[in-house]
Amino acid sequence: MRNKVIPYGRQSINQDDIDVVVNTLKADFLTQGPKIKEFEDDFANYVGAKYAVAVSNATAGLHLAVLALGLKTGERVITTPITFAASANCVKYVNGEVWFADIDPNSYLLSLESTRKLIESKPKGFFKGIIPVDFAGLPVDMEAFRALADKHDLWIIEDACHAPGGYFTDSKGEKQMCGNGNYADIGIFSFHPVKHIACGEGGMITTNSESLYKKLALLRTHGITKDDMAENHGGWYYEMQELGFNYRLTDIQSALGISQLAKNNSGVTRRNEIANAYKEAFRGKIKFQYVPEGAYNAHHLFIIEVDDRKGLYDFLRTQNIYAQIHYIPVHTLPYYKTIGYGDADLSQSEHYYSKCISLPMYPSLTDEEVDFVIQKVLLFSS
Ligand SMILES: *Cc1c(COP(=O)(O)O)cnc(C)c1O
Repeated sequence: MRNKVIPYGRQSINQDDIDVVVNTLKADFLTQGPKIKEFEDDFANYVGAKYAVAVSNATAGLHLAVLALGLKTGERVITTPITFAASANCVKYVNGEVWFADIDPNSYLLSLESTRKLIESKPKGFFKGIIPVDFAGLPVDMEAFRALADKHDLWIIEDACHAPGGYFTDSKGEKQMCGNGNYADIGIFSFHPVKHIACGEGGMITTNSESLYKKLALLRTHGITKDDMAENHGGWYYEMQELGFNYRLTDIQSALGISQLAKNNSGVTRRNEIANAYKEAFRGKIKFQYVPEGAYNAHHLFIIEVDDRKGLYDFLRTQNIYAQIHYIPVHTLPYYKTIGYGDADLSQSEHYYSKCISLPMYPSLTDEEVDFVIQKVLLFSS
């Protein structure tokens, strides 16, 4: 028995992260200062997108994304049930309808085929958009989803909250970083401490569209601007052109984000080392997430499937290993159940949920801790 709890995820904050935050506290701006733009530029550069808009959290980012894309009351959007509720909730914020398509049983990602079937079972124009999720850090083949979306005139929001640093390889053999905006209209990232980049709370929206970028930036700060005004009464004058929100990130958080982002590649490399150790130990014995050819998993999570999931979860707790379940299918959450998703055929998602468990996965996990987790999982499963 170990005394130290091994959680499923954990932030890595070093002295250099602390120093930049302290320096920002001593500088002129706590919010709306120079660090926000610097973080946005660094982030856009990192994923290879033209524009980035920093926001207070990824949920706010998803809300602004559906607003900027013009989603209206009653309009329908498809997403996966195997995600955090926020991927679906953003559609409900603007009184849209959420429809779920099933997952692929091996990659656990939204299935292209079940999405296609759902779209083709309805008249043209029935759906407005798709929100695929780079689940666990595994990039969606966004090129394939773009082809489907174009055929039916749909927009795509890539929920890349799990996947900064992940990429897939497109049909031309080029690496496509998650959230780079080459195929999806908008990408969304989260800086919640369990995700790769910890800002406390925080999020980033990425896009290659200048018009979407301008809308997102306006909506983030009350719809108020000093640019492109119809009138100008003097230096104090501004216009509120739309009903926006205060979804800003602070300068303090942005300074931390800049420092954290600079370490993301080494963090993702370490996450992949840990994943490889798990895979080597479990291959042929325990099912784990399948990674398609040419894809690089950013590994927010490492998920296995076992028959006695509750048994393993409880056993690992007795060993101070705090594994977690990702996720309870969104359509089965009480809020969505009462809306009436009871009879949707999402059997792959439900089957997956009955078996899935996420093992500890974060850069500061030591080799010795990884071995300890492996040993206990194998002991329970044998
Ligand atoms: C964490 C997460 C979100 C929400 O992120 P916040 O920054 O906490 O709002 C949205 N989608 C997915 C897939 C997530 O994992």
